[in-house]
Amino acid sequence: MIIAIDGPAAAGKGTLARRLAAELGFAYLDTGLLYRAVGIGLKRAGGEPDNKEDATMAAQRVTPACLQDPALRSDEAGQLASKAAIVPGVRAALLEFQRDFARTPPGGAKGAVLDGRDIGTVVCPNAACKIFVTGSLEVRAARRAKELRERGEAVIDERVLQEMRERDERDTRRSSAPLVPARDAFVLDTSDMNAEEAFQAALAHVRSRMG
Ligand code: C5P
Repeated sequence: MIIAIDGPAAAGKGTLARRLAAELGFAYLDTGLLYRAVGIGLKRAGGEPDNKEDATMAAQRVTPACLQDPALRSDEAGQLASKAAIVPGVRAALLEFQRDFARTPPGGAKGAVLDGRDIGTVVCPNAACKIFVTGSLEVRAARRAKELRERGEAVIDERVLQEMRERDERDTRRSSAPLVPARDAFVLDTSDMNAEEAFQAALAHVRSRMG
C-alpha cells in the first residue's frame, strides 16, 4: 500500500508522514531530501540551480548516502532545491528512485509513505491513499521561524515569510509537476490544528481507505 502526502513547505507533512509510517509499520521517504541533495550538490560543484545542464547532472549524481547530509536541513538547501526542481531533467532523474522505493519498500515493509509535492499526481498516481496537507502562508511561516529559532539560527520573520511565499510561487507555477492537490486527495488544512490533531485526522482518513 502506498500513502502519498503532498503539500507546501512547513504545512506539517513531514511530521505527519513520519508518524503515519511508524504507526502502520511502513517505510518512509522524504522526497524533498532528494531535491535538497541536488541543490547542495550543485552549490558544491559551483553550478547554477537554474542552469538546466548543471542541475540535471547534479540530480544524476544523487545517491541514497547523500540524503544523510545535515546540510540538507538548511533553508538555503530548500531554496536551491525549489530552483533546481523546476528543471524537467532533474525531476526525471529522481523519478525512478522514488517509484522503486514505493514499489519495493526497504526492509520488507508492507507499505510506503512518501511525502513531497507531486507524489499523488506524478510519482504514484495510483497510490491507495492521498493526503494534501496545507495551511495558510502566515501560519506556515511562523512555524518555520520557530523551528529555525529552536535550532539556534538568527531569524527575521519577514524574511522567512517572503522566502516561503517565493518558494510557494515557484512550486505552484512551474510547468513540470507543479504543486497541486491530486483530484482524489483528501485535503487537510492544518492552519488551526496542532500536530496531534493533524495526525488523528490523517490516520482516520488512512484507515477509511484501508478498509
Ligand atoms: O519538502 P522540502 O521543503 O524539503 O522540499 C524542498 C523543495 O524541493 C520544494 O520546495 C520543491 O521545490 C522540491 N520538491 C519537489 N518535489 C517533491 C519534493 C520536493 O519539487 N516531490
